[in-house]
Amino acid sequence: MLDMLQYKDLDSLYAANLECRACGLRQGCKQVVISRGNPAGRVMLVGEGPGSQEDEQGKPFVGPAGQLLDKILAAAELPPEDVYITNVVKCRPPGNRLPKADETRSCLPWLERQIELIAPRLIVCLGALAGQTLISPDLRITRDRGTWSKYRGIDITATFHPAALLRDPNLKRPVWEDFKVIRDFYKRMLREE
Ligand code: SF4
Repeated sequence: MLDMLQYKDLDSLYAANLECRACGLRQGCKQVVISRGNPAGRVMLVGEGPGSQEDEQGKPFVGPAGQLLDKILAAAELPPEDVYITNVVKCRPPGNRLPKADETRSCLPWLERQIELIAPRLIVCLGALAGQTLISPDLRITRDRGTWSKYRGIDITATFHPAALLRDPNLKRPVWEDFKVIRDFYKRMLREE
């Protein structure tokens, strides 16, 4: 078991994460995909795992789902310079399947240390897996999206993954409802600083 506290800053954490082979996903992907956005950002978005374009480019959410996410963020007036984006697992699952429980468990210490070092003000889970990992194992995204709780003192909520919107346009409305609340939370946070 790695001692994550030995990584005192993001550079050392990223360098070690890039060398990780703690689960089988690393064998089937091209590279470890850690993040994009501003590590000093107040808002942290957590998805599930890299897809094929993310695996190619080494950044999360750069494929069609990522482009949709960027549009949602712009509509919700969340400035890119205040947003940091990552995934629960850092290596692409084969065939874009969901990460398995043991893979998620293996990768979780990286995410936990990432959150500690980033220290965001707000975490938005994108999809059920992120919500189940950071909010509650019992989370059901259809039932629990848009509800708010705390992750180690940080405000946290969950909504559908943008890839789900691409498959089912009916989800656009609930996601927009969730992001309107996130927008209002963000604006209130800025006012109160
Ligand atoms: S998915 Fe996470 S735990 Fe598995 S090899 Fe990649 S970085 Fe390591």
